[in-house]
Amino acid sequence: MKITFLGHTSCVPDVGADTSCLLVNDRVLFDTGWAPVLRLRELGIDPLTIAGVVFSHMHQDHYLGLVQLMFICGLQGKPGSASRTPTIAGPGEHLGEVVEACGNYLQFARFPECAIEPELRPLSDGDVLELAGLRIEAHAVHHVSGRHGVEPALGYRVKEVATGAEFAFSGDTHPFPPVAEFARGVPLLIHDGAHTPPEDGAAVAREANVGRLVLTHSPEARREDVLARARPVFPLTDAATQFMTIEL
Ligand SMILES: [Zn+2]
Ligand SMILES: [Zn+2]
Repeated sequence: MKITFLGHTSCVPDVGADTSCLLVNDRVLFDTGWAPVLRLRELGIDPLTIAGVVFSHMHQDHYLGLVQLMFICGLQGKPGSASRTPTIAGPGEHLGEVVEACGNYLQFARFPECAIEPELRPLSDGDVLELAGLRIEAHAVHHVSGRHGVEPALGYRVKEVATGAEFAFSGDTHPFPPVAEFARGVPLLIHDGAHTPPEDGAAVAREANVGRLVLTHSPEARREDVLARARPVFPLTDAATQFMTIEL
């Protein structure tokens, strides 16, 4: 299983670093960041080969790029092809309205030849999604933001069915010890290192007995601080960088 960070920084892209977006096996995105079509192109990957997108939650920095992906699928995907019906999954509370808004923004009613029909898969705690050879378990996490309070947010445990390779992704979460339960024993945990203090993310990795930890959602400028705080707690910690690729 191959995992590539198409983005990892905080809410707004830096020069050379996009926001939250993981690419798994060149086929499935977890969140889109701001510009996934451009990021895929930078890696020489055809965006039409993306089978689906799995959102951790519906905050803008995690879904802004969906509209790009939907547009290129409609513009260049052949009618009747899989690229016209990508799976779009995520917490059910706001998934449908965001996808519908993207279709409205793209004027699907006025340009029906560019309209796509995504397969919506609203998820909640305990659900399992099978997608492109991956078995994806959804687990509730705890994400609080600004005046909107608690945001429905999911973390995932992901298994490549053919090989049994696994990783876990916390999505955006404040310190939430149950992440250690769904991440238990995975070779790789990708954990929020911004809403959760790095040392607390590291404590989750230690409790879950994972192979290695990659902290994400922090700008490059915070990298040294993140590592200095996390590594005393869990030495096998890294901080995500743009296009970091991990093979499991
Ligand atoms: Zn968020
Ligand atoms: Zn976020």
